[in-house]
Amino acid sequence: MNFSSVFHYKFNRLLVAIVLVALAAALRVWPLEVLESKVPWLTFYPAVMVAAIYGGLLAGLLATGLACLTVVLLWPWLVAYPFINNSADWVGLMVFIMNGALISSVAEAMLRANIRARQAQVQAEASNKAKSVFLANMSHELRTPLNAILGFSTLMRQSSDLSSEHRQTLDLINRSGEHLLNLINDVLDMAKIESGRLTLEHAPFKAPDLAQEVIDLMQVRAEEKNLRLLLEQLSDLPRLVDGDVAKLRQSLINLVGNAIKYTNQGSVKLKIRSRPDEDAQRLWLTFVVEDTGIGIASSDQARIFEPFTQIGQQTLQKGTGLGLAITHRYVELMGGHISVNSTLGHGSRFCIEIPVGRVNETPIAPMNANNYRVIGLAPGQPELRILIVEDQQENWLLLQRLLAGIGLTARVAENGLLGVEAFQAWRPHFIWMDVRMPVMDGLEAARCIRALEGGSTVKIVALTASVFKEERDQIMAVGMDDFIRKPYQIEEIFDCMTRHLGVRFIRDESVSETATVLIPTADISLEDLAALPEELRLELRDALVNLDTVRVPEVIDRISELNPAVSDLIKYHTNQFAYTTILRALNADAGPI
Ligand code: ADP
Repeated sequence: MNFSSVFHYKFNRLLVAIVLVALAAALRVWPLEVLESKVPWLTFYPAVMVAAIYGGLLAGLLATGLACLTVVLLWPWLVAYPFINNSADWVGLMVFIMNGALISSVAEAMLRANIRARQAQVQAEASNKAKSVFLANMSHELRTPLNAILGFSTLMRQSSDLSSEHRQTLDLINRSGEHLLNLINDVLDMAKIESGRLTLEHAPFKAPDLAQEVIDLMQVRAEEKNLRLLLEQLSDLPRLVDGDVAKLRQSLINLVGNAIKYTNQGSVKLKIRSRPDEDAQRLWLTFVVEDTGIGIASSDQARIFEPFTQIGQQTLQKGTGLGLAITHRYVELMGGHISVNSTLGHGSRFCIEIPVGRVNETPIAPMNANNYRVIGLAPGQPELRILIVEDQQENWLLLQRLLAGIGLTARVAENGLLGVEAFQAWRPHFIWMDVRMPVMDGLEAARCIRALEGGSTVKIVALTASVFKEERDQIMAVGMDDFIRKPYQIEEIFDCMTRHLGVRFIRDESVSETATVLIPTADISLEDLAALPEELRLELRDALVNLDTVRVPEVIDRISELNPAVSDLIKYHTNQFAYTTILRALNADAGPI
């Protein structure tokens, strides 16, 4: 506030005090004249109070003083009954002055406290904003170089003339990069949670696919430790539900990852079931992660959900101690709950239960549908011009090599302004647009291009290292078609171009996962197989022992007529060529062959 506004502010308040005292006097003259000189201060007390509460100490004292002057000096002129007649009335006047001063001081203290609280709030908001800006910058700074590390190492791994030693080294670089990325993501997620910037992003998803995806993702880690990683479906599941699949996936990965990390022998199970809710529009999904690992002492069980908490010496260096804290907050944000049951030395059981919306059946794109490596452009495609607007050399080089590797022509512009110029001169069909750049950022460049002639039809996709929804909202608001988050999977680049340009690629199917993945309804168990007729069990055993790939599916088909759940279960294991698992179960059930 400058001097003149301070003056106006104070002056207004003092003026209000004067008006209030005048009003209080006028009320005594009329309509309260019947009181004559009784209860003289009746109207002046409220006037002082209101003046003090509105204007603070100065206004309160002014109102008190003016009230006294009015009563002592003006009253004899105004009415026929003066208030001050004897020494008792003078004492009354003194008491009024004291009370007026008291009321004014209390009101001033209240006003000051209020101002302090407001200043503190403004300060807190400012520092929260500063923290967010810091986070946004950090995430950008950390994720951008990681994009280059992960991208180039993946690209080099695809080269055919690599020695096995070099390939191993690249694998190591790639794995370390991914590990670093996970750590950075954890720290950023936690910081986002702390700064209250976490929002839910709802979308329809397939719960069984999600569980399978988590299992697939973790399978390698489980195999490295010789652990069995199993998925059990404990009840019917709706095909599609509505929820924040990214946060749920992250939570499950954290729990299953921990279970594998803290288990040295035995198994880790992810169990999934659903139950209806009173609200017909939603239902509850329960995920249980059970392990046969080291367990957690009951005294530690409440602590593990606190950030940066790690229990026991053996766990040091293995993580950040943030996984469970993040999972806990995510689950709470989704309106669910998380619990743990564990016995030291015997294993742990983490359970999360979250409400999800019901969705009417509509086909959605299957997850990981394209698990193939792109090796070229499909024949008969029109020539495409691709513009890369990116300031960091390692990033544009990676993208340019990726595109050139399959025969696409890509030009580079190293900032937004050059990007706009390149658009005008070269008329690309597709633009990969970095968001943060010097001279002109990606958002501004996209806005300019959209306003130019022909600029409304070009496909513009942002490449962003930001983890914040706001930035992604801004990207869409300036008219870009899509965004890809850095570090990206190479597949995402090609999928995105197919989505927006309809361009078709040739994929190397030798690296695809062709087996249909079915969700087993339970692990193979005696009970499941014992429910089958003996004749079918013997036939299945015979077909498996003889590795008869024609008869095995036939028997499974027959089993499916009797018990589809068990047949799905067997199909799942045969797809994974886990014949011995089925045989072991059959043998346990029916005696050795
Ligand atoms: P970290 O990065 O250390 O794994 P978390 O927040 O995920 O951090 O877990 C916190 C601590 O809880 C771990 O350090 C570990 O001591 C304990 N913990 C978590 N999950 C398990 C589990 N399945 N079995 C035993 N201990 C666990």
